[in-house]
Amino acid sequence: MIRFSRLVLASVLTFPLIAASTAFSPALSRVEVIESDHEPFLRMGPFSPEMLEDSEQIDINASGVISLRRGPESYSPTGFAQFRAIVLDEPATSFQFGVAASEDRGIDHLLMVRVRTNDRTDFSNWVRVAKEGEVQTLEPIQEIQVKVILKSLNGRHTPWLRGLSIGYGTDRNVSEPEAGETVNLPRPNLITRSAWGARIAHGSYDSHQVVKLIVHHTFEPRASSYSGSSTIKGIQNFHMDSRGWSDIGYHYLVGPDGMLFEGRPENAIGAHCPPNTGKLGICVIGNFDSGEERLTPAALETLHQLLAHLAGKYGISVSGIYGHRDFRSTGCPGDVLYARLPSIREEVSRRLAGLR
Ligand SMILES: [Zn+2]
Repeated sequence: MIRFSRLVLASVLTFPLIAASTAFSPALSRVEVIESDHEPFLRMGPFSPEMLEDSEQIDINASGVISLRRGPESYSPTGFAQFRAIVLDEPATSFQFGVAASEDRGIDHLLMVRVRTNDRTDFSNWVRVAKEGEVQTLEPIQEIQVKVILKSLNGRHTPWLRGLSIGYGTDRNVSEPEAGETVNLPRPNLITRSAWGARIAHGSYDSHQVVKLIVHHTFEPRASSYSGSSTIKGIQNFHMDSRGWSDIGYHYLVGPDGMLFEGRPENAIGAHCPPNTGKLGICVIGNFDSGEERLTPAALETLHQLLAHLAGKYGISVSGIYGHRDFRSTGCPGDVLYARLPSIREEVSRRLAGLR
């Protein structure tokens, strides 16, 4: 059995960016399933509407995540899917992969990627990567190819690829936060994983030291459709079953009623803003684009309390509070919430200074 966890512990692989002599053969189809007379059916998830069924190129939209799904199962104990020349919308230096296959426990999978920079030289050699392991490159990458090999461990059932996602980004354009004082401030009341009915995460987490606090919005589900724990479960299912992550991507989620939900442990690397190492993901449920939903006073108060607690706990100054869009071109956390971040930082400063 392939053990991904050991590779995950190695954590940061570095692509050698060796000019590979084996240029990618244009004769290979974008997706191929071995030992099957069923044509694989692939379609993009909701994050890449530009994807064309017959296109040889998968263009990724600004969300920075692609999802690929196979439709009906075919009948083969092994198979692979290979995706050609995925062109990123922005050059990136950090990648995080998710693979969701049928019946995870009975399926072994191997994920291989190779990359090339934007000067369109040859691709690197194939490099094996771990599910959710963060991969850093020496130079910004513009194109990536992915190969997923699936194998049934007992030979009895057919593996199929349910979802594949590639998160990508770079910290290059963002300044590092200044250190702050360590201050002991209470965390808001927490709805624990067991209280909201979380699934057990697949595999083990990688650990990190928290240095940045990243604010997100869900966009969807909207605050108007929020229904407490079941909303959080839906987000976890989507992250695990479609994006193929080990667990819900965020560390904390804030409901419009001000309820605070526990996501991943704080010391576990998340899946929300690649490179995720060092970043705590806090997601406010709602769509805070202009003219959409209102940030409720209850959600804002929880956000203030949580950010002050975390900044004090980790000794991070308020310059360590970011919006997702500080790292890449995404709408997240919405114009309204993003515009509010300066006043949120001021309020957190006041609390850290003991001024309220
Ligand atoms: Zn976000």
